[in-house]
Amino acid sequence: MLGCFVGITLDGNKIILTAISVSAMLITLFLLKKFNLSTKVKISLIYAHLTALFFPFVLFTTNVACGTFCLACYSNILEMTAISLPTTLILATISGFLVIPTFYIVSSKKMEIKNREILKFVKHYSKKLQLKMPKIYAVNKAEPIAFSFRSFKSAIFISVGLLDILNKKEIEAIILHELAHIKIKSSALKLSTNILRLFSPLSVLARFSHDSTQEEELADRFAIKEQETSRYIKSAKRKIKEYRDV
Ligand SMILES: [Zn+2]
Repeated sequence: MLGCFVGITLDGNKIILTAISVSAMLITLFLLKKFNLSTKVKISLIYAHLTALFFPFVLFTTNVACGTFCLACYSNILEMTAISLPTTLILATISGFLVIPTFYIVSSKKMEIKNREILKFVKHYSKKLQLKMPKIYAVNKAEPIAFSFRSFKSAIFISVGLLDILNKKEIEAIILHELAHIKIKSSALKLSTNILRLFSPLSVLARFSHDSTQEEELADRFAIKEQETSRYIKSAKRKIKEYRDV
């Protein structure tokens, strides 16, 4: 005989859990569509949405697996959830790595920068850092911002507002700074001690924002070293700060 029960058992608990998941899915989707939220909040919502989306599937798969192998968890909702929840979080994180950068690229109004001088500059330093050359995008935002991310592909985003106020050398300083970020993140991923970081939703956020002072210093130091002066990175940062203080 194969197992105690093959198939899905439907009971009140599972229906309630599924209903909660579906509601969470709809609420997160509604918030994402309805409001103009910051990137960090959006990413958290996408992560929550993915978790809510996967949970019922994992729950019922666990149910079938427990039944097939005649494990007690097939009738015990707590055990079933205890197995399903971490599995769901892992799935949501893995898919987050795929979905979130794609979401950002698709949803933001941006244009790939095709300026030959900039491309040549990026190519040269990517090679020097042994990185696959990232794409450079101009994001249609007045606020002067620059950031990068690395998941399966890496990319650097510079807002139109920032391109407007910086001169060539300052733009290069910002690109060097972002390339250093990509390099730091890629080597961090290679370390097995950072496996936990990889599975934390916060690491997805970290890939988008400049939240570590130490990383900021390293990235600045790289730009200063390559340009042989701290002038440009300093004046670039000063201009960004001046804009924010207005
Ligand atoms: Zn930075």
